[in-house]
Parts: sequence; structure tokens; C-alpha cells
Amino acid sequence: MKPSIHRPTQIIVDRQAIKNNFLHERQLLNDETAIFAVVKANAYGHGAVAVAQTVSEVGVDGFCVATLDEALELRQAGLQETILVLGVTPVQQAELAAQMNISLTVATLEWLQQAIELLTQPLKIHLALDTGMGRIGFTQHDAVVSACEFIQQQELIIPEGIFTHFATADEADTKYFHQQVQKFKQLTTNLPLKFKYVHCANSATSLWHLDCQSNMIRFGIALYGLNPSGTALTAPYELQPALTLQTEIVHIKKVPAGQSISYGATYTSSKPEIIATLPIGYADGWLRRMSGSSVIVAGQLCPIVGRVCMDQMMIKVPQMYPLGTKVTLIGTDQQTNLSAETAAEYCDTINYEIICNLSDRIVRKYV
Ligand code: PLP
Repeated sequence: MKPSIHRPTQIIVDRQAIKNNFLHERQLLNDETAIFAVVKANAYGHGAVAVAQTVSEVGVDGFCVATLDEALELRQAGLQETILVLGVTPVQQAELAAQMNISLTVATLEWLQQAIELLTQPLKIHLALDTGMGRIGFTQHDAVVSACEFIQQQELIIPEGIFTHFATADEADTKYFHQQVQKFKQLTTNLPLKFKYVHCANSATSLWHLDCQSNMIRFGIALYGLNPSGTALTAPYELQPALTLQTEIVHIKKVPAGQSISYGATYTSSKPEIIATLPIGYADGWLRRMSGSSVIVAGQLCPIVGRVCMDQMMIKVPQMYPLGTKVTLIGTDQQTNLSAETAAEYCDTINYEIICNLSDRIVRKYV
């Protein structure tokens, strides 16, 4: 989908904020630890290529994406760093990945055995270990050893990494986290093969479990300035949110008492009110569940009245404003702030989901 560039709804991405978050994290780590920026899902809504280019300027070591297509987008944009696909890629695509110098995650020996029949050039792989996430990867030490022994015999398989993913690194209760750490240690001990990268840290692990980064971290949500735990844990440095979501008033009117607004007529004015219409809706990722929450107009919080529609929504404002008046949904206006976290709490989800939902229809601008 092409972004709607002729509509005054936009995401503004602060590239310096992304660089600052990256550099703060860099300072926490020892020199041997590489940082891979996680730019899957269009860099959590921020724009994958632009974010990748931004962190490339400050020395990122590599990128993590979810799909081969996301990796290809970065290669086609000219990015040269290592790119790791975190999800399982159909083995039929192994040759394409090898051709484009893209590293793939491997979760079974069978995948390797099939890949070797198809490859004509070297493929870099990272073995996934399932230490308790229950998603993908090897669960038994002898199976990991067998995979390593198989790789040792193959010239076309390059063992670039071995990794796991933690399910609860963002929680105050560390019991399950430590069980996973133990399992990771057990699965990676006494292997017949050396991997360039041994990695287990997402943002939460890199922020709150400094002793457990191995030699590479996969830095996602915190790169964008959001706290992986929501509000449960405090980050060791100030995270700077990079994303602002803004629109403008495109229609405004006075309504009498008793006027219903939007689908289902769920809201009715109790007295004469001023209602403004905004060109953003749930097709842009501003969820229908945001009905009743607030946006900022001229530094003041104003409620969304009635249901959020697909492409538009209505807000109640305290006075008449000119058409084109700025409205902030995520960001700060005259010291009033609404964050992705505020939105997440309102609709009982996580900040990740709010930003990943922001659709390609919204134009992204970079400052
Ligand atoms: N590593 C893996 C395997 C992931 O699935 C994710 C995100 O979902 C990340 C790293 C990045 O996590 P975060 O955004 O919490 O840093």
C-alpha cells in the first residue's frame, strides 16, 4: 500500500532519539558484545530501511528481521551488515538467502539436511534453542550435538550463531528467566562446534540482566525508546521515544444537546458541544478500542467521542479551532504527553502492539 501523502496524518520519527538509545546501550556493553538492531515489522512501525540506515551510521553490527522478505528489503536498500531472519524460513528459500548473504535461523536437523540438497553457495545459519519459550528450536542437548556434527561435515553451512529467546526477561519475578538461562547453558556446553555469536538477549535482557548477554544482543523495543516491561521495571538509562503520531482537524462544528456521534450512536452530547473530525481511524492502526481515550489539541487533552471509524474519528474540543490545527495522538504538545504506553494501557495491551499496528497508509517523516 502506498502511504497517503496527501492527508495530514503522519508519523514523525526522531532519528537522533534512535541513535541516542543505541549509544546508551552501547555504553552499557563490553566491547566484545555486538548489537543487532531488531527492525522486523517495519522497525516496529518506524520504517525498516530508515531505521536501519540510522543505526548503521552509529556502528550497528547487524539486523534482525522476522522474514526473508524483510531481510531482502534491507539488502535491496544497500545495507551491508549481517542480517538474521529470526523466524523459520521455508527450506526452498535457503539458496536465495545464501545468494543475498542473509543468515537464517535453523530449528531442526531435518531443515539442514534438506537445505544441503539445494545449496550451491554457503549459507550462514543460527541454531535456535528452545529453552522455555515453546516457540521454535532444539530442546535436547544430543539433538544440538547432532546438528553441530552435521554442520561440521558441510562446507556450505556456516555456523554463525546459536541463540535462545526468553519469555519473561521483562518481569520482576526472575524465577522462570533463570530456569531458561540454566537450560541455555546446558544446551550450549560441550558442543563440537564454535559459533561466532552466542546470543540470548532481547531489550529486556540487555537492560536488566547485564550478566546474560553472551556476545551479541538483539535490541528491539528499547531502540525505539519504549520500555519492554511497560511500567513494571525502570530502565537503567532514559529511553527516548522516537515516534510521534500527529494529524490535523479537517472538520469542526457546533452540535446541539442530544446529537449522537459515530457508528452505533454510542455517544450523545448532553449539552451544546464542539466536535472536530480527524482523518485517522482503525485502518491506520488506531484501534477501535481507543474510543473514549484522549488526544492532544493545543496542549489540552480532548476525548475521542463515539466509535473510532475505519478512516476517521471525532473528538470533543473546548473551543472552535481553525481547520489544520495540529492534533497529537502519540507525542508531546505544549508539555502534555501521550505515549504509546498510555495508549497500550488504555486498551489493555503492550506498547509493542500499538506501534506495530500503525499501518503503511500513514506517511513516515524523518527528522
Ligand atoms: N529476539 C527475538 C527472537 C524476538 O522475537 C524479538 C522480538 O519479538 C526480539 C529479539 C526483540 O525483542 P525486544 O523488542 O523486546 O527487544
